[in-house]
Amino acid sequence: MNLWVATRNRHKLEEIAGILGPAYELKSLLDRPDIPEVEEDGATYRDNARKKARALWEHVKAPVFADDSGLEVDALGGRPGVHSMRYSAPQPTHAKNIVKLLGEMQGIPLLQRTARFRCTVVYLDTEGNEQVFEGVLEGVIGFEAQGEGGFGFDPVFVLPERGITVAQLSPEEKNQISHRGRAVMALRRYLEQRAGGR
Ligand code: IMP
Repeated sequence: MNLWVATRNRHKLEEIAGILGPAYELKSLLDRPDIPEVEEDGATYRDNARKKARALWEHVKAPVFADDSGLEVDALGGRPGVHSMRYSAPQPTHAKNIVKLLGEMQGIPLLQRTARFRCTVVYLDTEGNEQVFEGVLEGVIGFEAQGEGGFGFDPVFVLPERGITVAQLSPEEKNQISHRGRAVMALRRYLEQRAGGR
C-alpha cells in the first residue's frame, strides 16, 4: 500500500518504516519539497497532527498520516508537552533541549521525575475521512544523558523497569514499546483490517 507521511524528519521516517514493515511504500514531505512547512501552533497533539495531515492531503489526495508527539514531565506540570520541539527556543536543538531539561530538573528526586512520551497519529484516507490513534510510553527523567540511539529526549528518558534510557535500546526495541510504535501499530492494524474486509 502507498502511504504518505507528513514529516521531513528522517529519523522519524526510519522509525515509522520499521514499525509499518515492507508492505507499505512510504512517501514523505522529503519527496515534495514544494509543499510548504505548516506551523505547529495547535493547542494539542491532535490539532497539530490533523493540520500536518490535512496540508499534505490537499496536495496528494491519497492516504496520508501525520504524527505529533511530545514529552510530558510531571514535575514541570506536563511541560514541555506539545511545545517539546521548541523547548529551548529561539534556536532549539535536541542537545539544547536536554541541557535545559536537566537544568530545570536539578534537585528533583527520582520518585518525582516521572514523565511520559505521548504520540497522536491522524490518518486521512483517499476521501479525507479521519481516524486518530494514540500511544504512550511511561518513564522517568534521568540525571544525565546516556546512549547514542534514537533522537530528541531519548538519552534522558529512563525506562524504570530496565534501568536504561530509550537511547540505549536498539531501533527494533524502541519501536516495540515507544509511544510512536504503539500509535503507528494501531494505524497498521486498522489498515490491515480494512484491507481484509474488502
Ligand atoms: P514532533 O512534533 O512530533 O516532531 O515531536 C516534538 C518533539 O517531541 C521532538 O522534537 C522531541 O523533542 C520530542 N519527541 C517526540 N518523540 C520523541 C521520541 O521518540 N524520542 C525523544 N523525543 C521525542
